[in-house]
Amino acid sequence: MEPQFSFGVIADVQYADNDNCYNFSQTNMRYYRNALPSLRNAVDHWMKDKRNISFVVQLGDVIDGCNTKNGGKAESWRVLSLVMDELDQFPGPVHHLIGNHELYNFTRDELCESKLFSVVNGFMSTQNYNCAREDDSRKKFYYHFSPFEGYRFVIMDSYDVAMLGWGEDCSVTQQSREILTSVNFNKELNSPVGLKGNDRRFVEFNGAIGERQRQWLKEVLQSAENDNEKVMIFGHIPFYPHKKDQMCLLWDYELVLEILHKFSCVVATFAGHLHRTRYTLDANIHHICIPAVVETPPGSDAFGTIDVYANRIILNGHGSVESEEFIYRQNVLAQEVAVGSVATKKELADHSI
Ligand SMILES: [Zn+2]
Ligand SMILES: [Zn+2]
Repeated sequence: MEPQFSFGVIADVQYADNDNCYNFSQTNMRYYRNALPSLRNAVDHWMKDKRNISFVVQLGDVIDGCNTKNGGKAESWRVLSLVMDELDQFPGPVHHLIGNHELYNFTRDELCESKLFSVVNGFMSTQNYNCAREDDSRKKFYYHFSPFEGYRFVIMDSYDVAMLGWGEDCSVTQQSREILTSVNFNKELNSPVGLKGNDRRFVEFNGAIGERQRQWLKEVLQSAENDNEKVMIFGHIPFYPHKKDQMCLLWDYELVLEILHKFSCVVATFAGHLHRTRYTLDANIHHICIPAVVETPPGSDAFGTIDVYANRIILNGHGSVESEEFIYRQNVLAQEVAVGSVATKKELADHSI
């Protein structure tokens, strides 16, 4: 059966003209130079795909923070243009999310002038997104659009409240420092030493959706619910704690989940940042984490093509991205009520809490 529509996902490309080296915790190798040909493979694949790939969601950290150490701002811009040259080959829109590595390379004002500000750049129709910049001088990177009748896609900014990107003098930076230092007593705020469980998320490389964006999200979901749309939400930082990875998590994930749980329209969230495949089923919502391009060895790939059907989505994985089917839980629950069955074994096994 033909999907209603298909789109591409890719996470944590983190390209840099840098020798391979291990990540901060010395557990995973990062293949920086291989990230560019790996991105090219993904774009080539989407262009040749017989299905019409309507658009791509780039889940953030498209270039690595080490670029700025290697050659300052000039190197950051040079590398960003190399990456964008690859993505520009794709004929449809590319939706960019802001990751911590974007904010190591650029200020928010600079990002607004770059192709990464996809809220205005490269989107096919101005009718379907709601930028809402006009009421506030602070630039907003979150927006929503309808890729197909009956669907609403929400692009979130995981760093709307964060230590990164706003500048030392900004009240957001000061507020974020207060949040962090009230929990994290380390001198190096990227370190989770001494923090337990989900408190390990209070590190500088994470951030929060924040109050104004949560309020906006609530309104978007209410409107989607009224219009009987299915909603998929995209953010760089995971929305749900995985039992094996509690550090890469939104500071205000509990408040965000509280909102998501109020609406039955949300079917899935997608995130990067963790650099690993992770999946958790939470109530009606599939939380899907896409692994990083930069940690995929040469000769392999890391991207996915998602087919959207009326009752499910199919993630067609390439390389380190695993293929999986996610049935909308609203349909499963309705069936369970109808036939008195229980959730499948796989669903129970994947349920982390
Ligand atoms: Zn990353
Ligand atoms: Zn990240």
